[in-house]
Amino acid sequence: MSPAQTRQAGPEFIELTARKRLEEVIGMERLVAQAVDALSDASAEDVIKWATDTFGDRICITSSMTDAVLIHLASRIRPGIDVIFLDTGYHFAETIGTRDAVSAVYPVNVINVTPSRTVQEQDAELGPRLYGRNPDLCCYLRKVVPLERALDPYEAWLTGVRKEETSARSDTSVVEWDPRRQMVKVNPIVGWTQEQVDSYISEHGVLINPLVYDGYPSIGCSTCTARVEPGADPRSGRWEGTGKTECGIHG
Ligand code: SF4
Repeated sequence: MSPAQTRQAGPEFIELTARKRLEEVIGMERLVAQAVDALSDASAEDVIKWATDTFGDRICITSSMTDAVLIHLASRIRPGIDVIFLDTGYHFAETIGTRDAVSAVYPVNVINVTPSRTVQEQDAELGPRLYGRNPDLCCYLRKVVPLERALDPYEAWLTGVRKEETSARSDTSVVEWDPRRQMVKVNPIVGWTQEQVDSYISEHGVLINPLVYDGYPSIGCSTCTARVEPGADPRSGRWEGTGKTECGIHG
């Protein structure tokens, strides 16, 4: 029903719709609480199985294309699952190449999501190099808003977020209710260490962005990702020197 039809339907219908949505949200919050209890010690495969059994086609993966660990895990449990990639217009060629390789190698449906404005259009409207002057606004326009649009058809999303990546992620749960997006967020490898990630990659020959072997353990836009010294905080090359640690998607 369109907004105009909803208005014509009158206040009783609107109240009924709002009440129905509230009941759905309460039901989802209860589902998340039960899942956190049931899955706190579950394997990544069992978490993905629960999520795909629960949400069917209304769940997707989001991937930065740093590696294909989550994609490999999920594609074995639910072939054909949607994988959302945010194509900001500022990616390294290697990241775009990894996206294309993932699409060719794994049985998944890669969806390339672009912002409403090209880099050139954004430069014309807001001036060049917005990422250097106002990275929060740049991330909002090129990542946060496009992701919200892309997630609209889904009830849940799978992410590769891990607790040890940043202090802000250290209390992340395996399943969470995302109140801002009104969605369930599922983090199957949240408790994995980097050693576990590395051993999964080598055991299964998982595709990995070649920049990882060139000093980029965490990869975002080329304009905002620097090479880091061996042994340094893997995310210290992201928005280096700005104090910014997250793009706004996960925090
Ligand atoms: S990471 Fe940098 S270039 Fe990419 S969207 Fe954020 S501020 Fe813009």
